[in-house]
Amino acid sequence: MPLDYKIFKPIADNQEISKNQNYLDFNPHLLFLIDRVDEGDKELTHSILKMVGELSAQRLAPKAEANDREGCRLQWRVGEFRLSPEEFFLFQELIELKIPSDKISEGVVDQAVQAYAADNDLPIFSEVLLPEGAQEQLRLLREQDLFGVSLPEEYGGTSLSQMVGGAVLLMIAQADASLFLRVMLTEGVGDLLDNFADVSLKEKYIPLLCSGDPENNYVGAMVITEPSAGSDFRGMVVKAIKKGDKYLIGGRKIFITNPDADVSIVLSRIDGAPLDSLKGLTLFLVPKYLADENGKKIRNRIIIENLENKLGIHASPTGTMLFKGSEAFRIGEEGEGLEQMLTLMNRSRLGIGIQGLGVAERAFLESATYCMERKQFGKILAELPLMQEILVDMRIEIEAATSLIFRAYHFMDKYFGLREKALLGELSDSEKIAMEKYYKLLRILTPLAKYRCSKLSVSIADRAVSNLGGYGYISEYKVERLIRDAKITTIYEGTNNMMALDVQRSIANEGTLDEIMADIDSTLEEIADQQLIPYKNRILESVEYFKDRAEKVSCSEDRSISSQVEAEKFAEILITVFEASLMLEEGQYLIEKENDWRKAVMAMKYIDDNFLPLEQKLTLKLLSRKYFDSIFYGKTLSVL
Ligand SMILES: Cc1cc2nc3c(=O)[nH]c(=O)nc-3n(C[C@H](O)[C@H](O)[C@H](O)COP(=O)(O)OP(=O)(O)OC[C@H]3O[C@@H](n4cnc5c(N)ncnc54)[C@H](O)[C@@H]3O)c2cc1C
Repeated sequence: MPLDYKIFKPIADNQEISKNQNYLDFNPHLLFLIDRVDEGDKELTHSILKMVGELSAQRLAPKAEANDREGCRLQWRVGEFRLSPEEFFLFQELIELKIPSDKISEGVVDQAVQAYAADNDLPIFSEVLLPEGAQEQLRLLREQDLFGVSLPEEYGGTSLSQMVGGAVLLMIAQADASLFLRVMLTEGVGDLLDNFADVSLKEKYIPLLCSGDPENNYVGAMVITEPSAGSDFRGMVVKAIKKGDKYLIGGRKIFITNPDADVSIVLSRIDGAPLDSLKGLTLFLVPKYLADENGKKIRNRIIIENLENKLGIHASPTGTMLFKGSEAFRIGEEGEGLEQMLTLMNRSRLGIGIQGLGVAERAFLESATYCMERKQFGKILAELPLMQEILVDMRIEIEAATSLIFRAYHFMDKYFGLREKALLGELSDSEKIAMEKYYKLLRILTPLAKYRCSKLSVSIADRAVSNLGGYGYISEYKVERLIRDAKITTIYEGTNNMMALDVQRSIANEGTLDEIMADIDSTLEEIADQQLIPYKNRILESVEYFKDRAEKVSCSEDRSISSQVEAEKFAEILITVFEASLMLEEGQYLIEKENDWRKAVMAMKYIDDNFLPLEQKLTLKLLSRKYFDSIFYGKTLSVL
């Protein structure tokens, strides 16, 4: 069915939402990818995704702008008194000055000081206040059981495949990239515990993280970054000291999303391990609450020192956490933290890629809707030839990146499936080989997908703002938020530079190049249509050249300066070749199955644009003009 972007009218704030809005309806490509390979119950998958698409478009999205404007606030509590950071600063000054209590009587700060002077046992702590709309959105997500969808059912999750879980997160990010972080990180923490923690920790915490109780607001945080340790973990100084069967953590972690988390996973250096090295890094679970000797709930010694003011994702709190001898439980063995963290990063990095893609989808939708409405030179913008070229390119790039990241999710599902069998000792020899293959494919596709989707997010949001002209730049229209929200995806969970270097590391240390090249070859083997063969040959020529360069650039333990200099170009070429082969194969598949040439035309344009030398780029084929209705409105194309 052709897409009717007008359903997403009106696009300005505070107007009514159409009841037909469902993000899934505007992303048939997503269902196409899932239906082709996912082994779960199709009916259940469709009904969950349809529910999430509707919830995201109709209930979550309308709150995002107000949440963004309201932002998060830090509040200090001195007993029953609630103080803003400025008031708390004053409170501390007054305590220092030791002013006699009879001189203090007015205002909340003075009253707090008076109460404190009278009762030194008063609890003092800080807490995060989320925007009101965000709290309501979180309750809705809990009610629909959308926390921990890919975590095991035995701990309260839904056991959906990683692929379907990725699609759920994509639509939540499309509605609100800040809200997405609350859900994604909580699931990530549950996943880490499921993989590495003792049964007692799993049983205690995972069900709380997955809970469908709307009054439960248990969330997780991944706590790694320190002032001197960003991309390079060797600079970590936050220390863990063993005390009996527990540990005490001391030090400061910065830029932490969800610093108010109930369950924080903290990477910390075991006391005595050498500084400026990766030795002794260990993961700990640090709960917000503990129980005292009488079983009474008490706060762990964690202070949220501040919240950052930042460019985007205003409804997601980012802050400094000060651990003051906080009680912690070790996860796995001492010194294994880095390895555990890196294993789990596949999932969180794909998660951030999905966040970027969600923002890109939303920016496309907002700009498509606008271009259907706005008239200039006597026509709607979507009829102007240059605008058609821009809209078509946006759509093609989004679908190409979606194919790439969901291919990574597919390999993750395959790998996890076999790993489960391996843990039970039930793997055949051929399955062992397959598991190794899926691991390597996932290993290289993860940084590639994170790099691609985050960079695309910024670029699509940029074009969306341009498509709205002056209206794109003002905050009344949503693309202004989207361009601010997009940028962070290129920075956290590893910057794009680190992703590009990681691609090379995976090739040099884990031999991933042969696997990805074999995967590209087998994808291209499917291309048989005479009109597609020249495009396939063009990709194959590039592949040959690339293989030769790749071996020289990357296959060395001690990566050379030239390989670092060219790491970004290397990643981009690999992404282009991989996406082109996927799109062409999808084109071939749909021609055979449904006599639909839409995907094939999109692949042709992608290959012309990316593989032709500069002097041949002006092909005069005008594919975006000829096939605009099919690509933009998703109409079936039965003849070329
Ligand atoms: C909003 C927000 C939320 C965050 N949430 C979390 C969180 O929940 N948990 C957490 O632990 N952290 C979080 N972070 C921190 C984030 O992960 C780091 O900021 C990020 O990893 C980069 O580290 P850095 O800021 O120290 O930059 P640096 O590592 O100092 O990097 C600065 C620049 O140098 C480049 N660079 C560094 N090394 C190399 C190299 N070898 N070659 C080439 N270029 C290089 C980087 O790519 C970057 O462009 C968050 C940050 C922000 C802004």
